[in-house]
Amino acid sequence: MAGRLDGKVAVITGGCSGIGLGTVELFVAEGAQVVAADIQDEKGAMLEKRFEGRVRYAHCDVTSEDEIKAALDLAKSAFGGLDILFNNAGISDRMGAITEVTADGWNWIFDILVRGPALGMKHAVPLMLERGGGSIINTASIAGLQAGFGPIAYSTAKAGVIHMSRCAAAQLSPQKIRVNAICPGLIATSIFGATLGMPREGADQLAAMVAQNAASAQPVPKAGLPDDIAQAALYLASDASAFVSGIHLVVDGGITVGGRHSWDPNAGSPF
Ligand code: NAD
Repeated sequence: MAGRLDGKVAVITGGCSGIGLGTVELFVAEGAQVVAADIQDEKGAMLEKRFEGRVRYAHCDVTSEDEIKAALDLAKSAFGGLDILFNNAGISDRMGAITEVTADGWNWIFDILVRGPALGMKHAVPLMLERGGGSIINTASIAGLQAGFGPIAYSTAKAGVIHMSRCAAAQLSPQKIRVNAICPGLIATSIFGATLGMPREGADQLAAMVAQNAASAQPVPKAGLPDDIAQAALYLASDASAFVSGIHLVVDGGITVGGRHSWDPNAGSPF
């Protein structure tokens, strides 16, 4: 069976862990060649080995414009061009209330979560135009849609990612470059542990716990996993979404719909 990304080349930032790693695995399974761009060199080397000839690792801190450009250029030198950019690298923070976040704190969060994807898009465009178009996907969050799902600086940055994606979609879609965002709900990854500075084992346990707790609160009673978001990224990356640009695809088990309610439709109307 043909892969849904046969012949496509993708760059995935934050590709060594969590949602990014899940997306590297799925994109490769669907026929793509992938540059995993991250700051975890050891994991990157392991990925290259595991997917020899299909995955290259680029050390890329998304706060560095030069490193972003080099990761995108690697897609061209190693695999012949660029069709898909998944701007996904991210961190969260523990900076507290609006009265507590420092000026440097705001810069730190915005440099990684907003400026990084902005510069990624900037340098991806010329490469995508050489191939006649492309698909850009930016990882936002349900925290960018509703208050209460994350710290204030993180949430504000993610709201920025959603709107930046819309603005870029308006500018780039006429050139056949589609731009969309994904808003994950609570997904079992090391981001929660990393925010608390935990070692790997503790971080994994915390990730599972967060997702499991969410599963009991959200309408869809299952823990959110990296592959749930990777599947959404696959849709937006592939030609199946050829008519889709400027959306933010919410993939959250329905948690933003509101609380799970227990009325059983088979039991008849309670009124
Ligand atoms: P994760 O910690 O498993 O993965 C994040 C990856 O980004 C890591 O590999 C890390 O090394 C990399 N990274 C961090 N800073 C970087 C930098 N400056 N340059 C390059 N790479 C960097 O977490 P995740 O949950 O997979 O996060 C991926 C994205 O999903 C993030 O943008 C995050 O904000 C978003 N998100 C996650 C959730 C969730 O519940 N897990 C929910 C909504 C949104």
